[in-house]
Formats: sequence, structure tokens, C-alpha cells
Amino acid sequence: MARARATATATATAAGDRPTAFTHATVIDPAGRRTIHDATVVVRGDRIESVGPYSGIPAGATVVDLRGRYLIPGLADMHVHCWFEQIEPPLFLANGVTTVRELSGTPMVHEWRQRIEAGTLAGPRWTIGSVIVDGTPSLWDPNLLPVVQVADATQARAAVRRQLAEGADFVKVYSRLSRPAFHAIAAECGRHGARLVGHCPDSVTVAEAADLGLGSVEHLFGLFYATSTREAALRERLARVQLELGDYNGWFNQCHPIEYDAMRTHGRIRTRLLFDRLARRRTRVVPTLTMHRGLDLARTLDRSDPRRRYLPAPMLASVDHALAELYLRGRDPSLDARWAELFEARLALVGELHRAGVPLMVGTDLATCGVYPGFSVHDELALFADAGLSPMDALRAATTEPAAYLGTRSGGVARGHVADLVVLDADPLRDIRNTRRVAGVLARGTYYDRAARDQLLADVERAAAGITGAAVAPACACHAVPA
Ligand SMILES: [Zn+2]
Repeated sequence: MARARATATATATAAGDRPTAFTHATVIDPAGRRTIHDATVVVRGDRIESVGPYSGIPAGATVVDLRGRYLIPGLADMHVHCWFEQIEPPLFLANGVTTVRELSGTPMVHEWRQRIEAGTLAGPRWTIGSVIVDGTPSLWDPNLLPVVQVADATQARAAVRRQLAEGADFVKVYSRLSRPAFHAIAAECGRHGARLVGHCPDSVTVAEAADLGLGSVEHLFGLFYATSTREAALRERLARVQLELGDYNGWFNQCHPIEYDAMRTHGRIRTRLLFDRLARRRTRVVPTLTMHRGLDLARTLDRSDPRRRYLPAPMLASVDHALAELYLRGRDPSLDARWAELFEARLALVGELHRAGVPLMVGTDLATCGVYPGFSVHDELALFADAGLSPMDALRAATTEPAAYLGTRSGGVARGHVADLVVLDADPLRDIRNTRRVAGVLARGTYYDRAARDQLLADVERAAAGITGAAVAPACACHAVPA
């Protein structure tokens, strides 16, 4: 992998020890649920030194006048799978995404993080999970993707120990784990104080998984079963799903009708009981609505989306193949209608989760169809608003909630917080879609103004055009398969 650093850093400003004062900004601080007009934010190194009404500026400060602009904390994408050093890290920054969580860790991403922390690669802060830990047979072929298959509790415990020894920040579990294997993984994670994140396995209820310590539930796949008045019967059908190794398509096609029936038998009381339980436990849900929209509304995906110019040919080949062969194969108009109905219900479900007080986090499932690095965080925010969240609550799901989950002093525009900030040209509280109007990004002490951001994007476009090769195989829920 080439080590070329985005040339945008040549025009971006690295402040060093010199303070930077952002003046006359409208500060939107999701951590305090507050808006401060005509504020001055002083940043030194990578920390916010002060936030307040316009007043004296520290001697020697670089001044950035933000009259008419809005300042929000850096955004997080809590569900990504990354492949190309020249593509994803700069696209995250250009979109104001300053924190990401990698859901299928690879040595390559660990190496990126080391260089980002050493200041030799521009990119967001990164939390990196284990490889996918799945049952047997896995939905993914281990020859194609980093997957470890565990058949029983002994193998499950060994897999956890090995992943943690190899540096995983958390353990990522997957759909086909047996119940005993999942119990063993949860117990082993508990012994090591390690976090458990991932798909709720088909063999386990959401309530049971949460009680065992699944702290971040990815996607909405298990939640319709869990809220159906016919859960027991649906689980019997789920238990009969038969798959070959690597048969993601089979899982997906066999489970869809069960999920649809679950959605049609949604029970209010069951939902209330479960969501209250998740809220009490502070179990996070990362709905990845952008991924679900790509899957459920696959027919409507825009094949000429202008953001495709930032993706290299191998990624485009992979998502195009998945769209044709997995998402759309065999779908007729009546199936399209059922999938669309499911997506509307997913939006409603996210609204119910939110109203019940279940903490939600923004994650896109980057690497699946219709998801674009960095850009799709803004799509996900808009979908959260469609689900009924206020703009402030949607912002919190991309800032304050991830910070609380990760235990970092970030996610707010407040004294002492990490100085990852995004400048917007328009008010995101008026319309959450205004988060797309990025005018500048401050990340790890470097400020990318409009010109530097434009340069980042131009560099990615050029890099994407130069990358050739076979399709990559995105590694998660992630219905893309190698061509
Ligand atoms: Zn994923």
C-alpha cells in the first residue's frame, strides 16, 4: 500500500502549540444540548481550551473568523469496514468524520492507526475490533475474509483470547454462532474486561444477548424477531435455516421472509418491555439504516451517484456485483414492495428505540451497496431524522453517544474536550441535512479549510482512478461478495 500522504496537508494548517481561535461562530454543542451565538472557541494542540462569548483572543493565536457559520463536534461512524489507505481515511476527514470504529479488524488498519497517531498519515481516530467470530459454517468463507469459525464453547473461548492477544479493542460476533459458543464468548470477554459488539446471533434473543454483555447491537436484523408476538414460532423457523460455508446469499434470502413476518406481527407490549431493558442496560443499537436502505430499496440505488468517483474500481466492482447478484436477483415488483414495507418499519422501529431511551449510535456499514466513506454519515443522520429524531438528538448519536460509549472526552464543543470540530455553512438544527455543507474540519490539531478540503477530495478522486484490481469482499452484514 502506497504511503503517499494526501497533498492537502500541504495547505491544511497544523497549529502545533500555537492556539487557534475560532471567532463569531454559532456553536452547537450536543453534549450540553446548547447553542451559543457569536462564540469564540480557543483550541490548543488537540484540546478545546475555552468556549465562550466573543472576547479577548490569546496572544499569538491564529484567528479563523466563522461569522455566519456553525461549529459542531467531529462526527463518528461507528460501523465501518475499510480497504484503501488513499480512499477512506481522507474521505472521513473531508466529511467531518473524525472518529471511526472498524468492525472487522485487519493488520492493515492497525498499521494505519499507528501512523495516524504518529502524525505521518492523515485520518480519524480509530477503534478496531477483532476479525469476525462466527459459528460454523460461517456466512463468510475464511479464504476470502478474516473470519474465525468456532464450533463449540472451547473454540469460542480460545478465539476470544487469541483476538485480544492480537490487539483487538473488542470482540466482533456474528450471526451464525451457536448459543453455547455465544455464551462462552460473552463469559470470556467478561473475564478479560473486553467489549462485545456485533450481530445478535440467530440462536440467541436480543434480550439474552444484551444480558450477557452484547453492548453494541449492530443492524436491525434481530430486532423484529425480538419484538414479534410470534417470536417463538419465528425462532423455530430461524433454527431450521440451513446454509453452506460462505452462503451469505442463502442466509439473507431464507431470513428475509421470517423477518418480514416478524415485522407484520410487531407487538407493542413486547417492544416496550425489551426496549426498557436495553435502555436500563445502556445497550447501544447501531441501526445502520444506510445499509438497510441499500438492501431494502436496492431497486432505487442510484447507479450514477456522483460519489462513485471517489471509489476505486475494485470497490465499485464488488458493490455492483452484490447489487445485481445478491440484492436484486429474483426480486420481482411484489418482493420489492415487501422490502420497501420493511424499510418503513425499520424507520419506525428506530423511532421507538429512541423514544424508549435506548442509546443509538450512527454507523453506516461502509463497504456495502449505496454507502460512501464519510459522506454516508450525513445520509445516516438524515435517516435518523426521518425516523423521528430531532436534529439535536441525531447529532448526539454521531457525537455524544459514541464518546460516552468509547469513554473519550469528546463529542462536545466544551472546555477540555478533544478539539475535533466541523465548520458548517448552514444550521444543522434547522435541517439535519445541513451537516453535508462542510466548510472546514479540525482534526488532530490540523485545520482543513475549504481549499484544503477540496484538495483532499481531488486527491481521493485521482487516487481512486489509479487503483485497479479484483473486487474486494466487504466483511460484514454487508451483503457484498467477491466477484
Ligand atoms: Zn458491517
